[in-house]
Amino acid sequence: ALIVRHRMRSSSRWARALAIVRELEEKCGTPETKLLQVADAMTVEMHAGLASEGGSKLKMLISYVDNLPTGDEEGVYYALDLGGTNFRVLRVELGGKTGGIVSQEFAEASIPPELMVGTSDALFDYIAAELAKFITEEEEKYHPPPGRQRELGFTFSFPVMQTSINSGTLIRWTKGFSIDDTVGNDVVAELTKAMHRQGVDVNVTALVNDTIGTLAGGRFSNKDVAIAVIMGTGTNAAYVERAQAIPKWHGPLPKSGEMVINMEWGNFKSSHLPITDYDHALDAESLNPGEQVFEKLTSGMYLGEILRRVLLRMAEEAAFFGDEVPPRLNTPFVLRTPDMSAMHHDTSADLRVVSSKLKDIFEVSNTSLKTRRLVVELCNIITTRGARLAAAGILGVLKKMGRDSATGGVVEKTVIAMDGGLYEHYAEYRNCLENTVIKLLGGGNSSSNISFEHSNDGSGIGAALLAASHSHYLEERS
Ligand code: BGC
Ligand code: MG
Repeated sequence: ALIVRHRMRSSSRWARALAIVRELEEKCGTPETKLLQVADAMTVEMHAGLASEGGSKLKMLISYVDNLPTGDEEGVYYALDLGGTNFRVLRVELGGKTGGIVSQEFAEASIPPELMVGTSDALFDYIAAELAKFITEEEEKYHPPPGRQRELGFTFSFPVMQTSINSGTLIRWTKGFSIDDTVGNDVVAELTKAMHRQGVDVNVTALVNDTIGTLAGGRFSNKDVAIAVIMGTGTNAAYVERAQAIPKWHGPLPKSGEMVINMEWGNFKSSHLPITDYDHALDAESLNPGEQVFEKLTSGMYLGEILRRVLLRMAEEAAFFGDEVPPRLNTPFVLRTPDMSAMHHDTSADLRVVSSKLKDIFEVSNTSLKTRRLVVELCNIITTRGARLAAAGILGVLKKMGRDSATGGVVEKTVIAMDGGLYEHYAEYRNCLENTVIKLLGGGNSSSNISFEHSNDGSGIGAALLAASHSHYLEERS
């Protein structure tokens, strides 16, 4: 009779581990034909989202920004940037036509995790208190003229239904935030109330998504910037649309003829997306099941977590880390994307970064080189899928804008302002994304007119610029 042994033989263990990796590789495949389908689906959804409210998973939110910065902006403005893991407060001094950015100061703090799932008042009180502290310190240095109204641009990196340039209600939280009593409320009103409670008087003159801020900041330094993409904790894109191509917009036609659209592409979904059982499980156990499907395949909050799930399965089914499943492998989100990036970029012959990360994070020691190589391969599979899908998304936007030159015409010079920690710090991801966009464009003439620019912290400066161009102070003067 066959003896079923509790311990797998090492050769069959390894075969099982390899089979899991090969299966993943196949399921995560993104051949060009598939990417072109994803890009087309993105374009189709963009049209649907612009046609009517609720017409698509893509919200295609109207930003009320119909003019991007010109460089004439002048004065001192504050900005508050609340995004994924960190938030920052900034003071930006704009010098007008020839002055550019005269000075900028900022302070950064991480958001205590309990505030991400607590109450609205607690979150906004914390932010307002940090802002008040920052303003006090800055004013001790700069001595503003007495009586001058402080003005602020608020970068709020979540889906918001704007009701004007400086008001809008939260549609839902993303990226690990979950605070029920904010949803449906005007986030500028929430912030203003909290600032009153802190005794600080600031006028919020612009409420912007981080993509809109990045677009504005990018345009300030380069007039060819027409798209902004964030690849960070979460992901999203914004671009300049023709106002007449927005059927759901019933307001007055802006003089510029343009309107900036916050796509909220993180919520994009399509049957063409390569989704695995790991992704389904991750989604089902997330704070927002069924939502932000594209984000869960491509962004920094999730890549490391997908890897953890694959490793856990390999530990359970192939004894990948020995006879016992390392207990820490069971903890969601212990493997952060920066650690995954460090393993992926390990160039040492014996993969000692991989070895030390596995030890630090999972308390797994004495891994073989073969094992470590397979971990790097997993990093590559998961990251490549994410980066290539993001590239397909960008192609979809270029197509919608008529800047992909499918017709063979001349393509306007188009700069894509990029920001976010994933883009900034994960070189394999960034390179794969950029190369894939160029490749999908055919690598010829049209692709040479498309370029990427890292807009470092453009979103905060962009919010200050938009606060300036919507400043009441300026309105009164002109
Ligand atoms: C949010 C977007 C934001 C993006 C990048 C997503 O989760 O829904 O509003 O722009 O993250 O920060
Ligand atoms: Mg950010």
